[in-house]
Amino acid sequence: MHNAAFKVLGLDWVYLAFNVEPQWLPDAVVGIRALGFKGVNVTIPHKEAILPLLDEIDPLAKLIGAVNTVVVKEGKLVGYNTDASGFWRSLKEEGVDPQGKEALVLGAGGAARAVAFTLVERGCSKLYIANRTYNRAQELAEALKEAGPVSIEPLPLEEGPLSTILPEVDLIVNTTSVGMGGKGGELPLRADKLEARHIVYDLVYNPPSTKLLEMARSKGCRAISGLSMLLYQGAEALTLWTGREAPIEVMKQVLEELL
Ligand code: NAP
Repeated sequence: MHNAAFKVLGLDWVYLAFNVEPQWLPDAVVGIRALGFKGVNVTIPHKEAILPLLDEIDPLAKLIGAVNTVVVKEGKLVGYNTDASGFWRSLKEEGVDPQGKEALVLGAGGAARAVAFTLVERGCSKLYIANRTYNRAQELAEALKEAGPVSIEPLPLEEGPLSTILPEVDLIVNTTSVGMGGKGGELPLRADKLEARHIVYDLVYNPPSTKLLEMARSKGCRAISGLSMLLYQGAEALTLWTGREAPIEVMKQVLEELL
């Protein structure tokens, strides 16, 4: 989508993917400046680990504790988080207002941080964070105290605790990588605990319809794919790099064709 956007904007730029192993992250970050890049996106599993390697962090990204976009500004590496605004823009587009809603976030990684901060900032009344590695859920719950006065409860990502809280919850957001690329285990959510009033959002965008979303639809729930968040976080990153308005329709069309 970025390459299509560069073309439309008349920029002789190219967006490429590099698979960086965790032990090479510091060297890769040094390389961003050395190779004269305008910027990069950062994804699994580097969104948190990259923070201490950057020169400056935008206040929102610092509060969230995760960076998904780096801009090279006068030789300085500046970190931003466009996942949060991308998620919020996609919720608005779907007409979902977290205000007063109880929410369950599955996962406690980089994307979970952006989603959880957005939900707290936008007035959710209670937030549960369930993660496979329980202490990461606890850490995120602790960090979220800075975002607003909302009751936050960490949970293990297990069927029992999730089944207990589902009757109270309105919005369920999967931010784990389970289901990405059509693989990677199953979430411990029981279909018979889902009700039509639940709104189920899966950040996974490939495939556009995941097992979780199919299960949600089969129970009559509103099911939202991560595709629009992907579009909007990318559009904002593009604006940060280029200073230009992102050609949303072109980017959307490319995404839909590819996925
Ligand atoms: P991350 O920081 O590496 O976090 C991964 C999360 O997934 C952690 O909570 C991890 O739990 C959990 N997890 C991984 N494998 C699991 C399994 N088999 N069972 C249960 N939990 C598992 O990654 P991230 O950057 O947050 O990205 C997470 C997902 O969101 C990815 O699929 C990514 O593509 C997607 N995403 C989508 C968008 C969008 O625009 N739609 C934006 C950002 C991210 P542990 O802590 O126990 O390891």
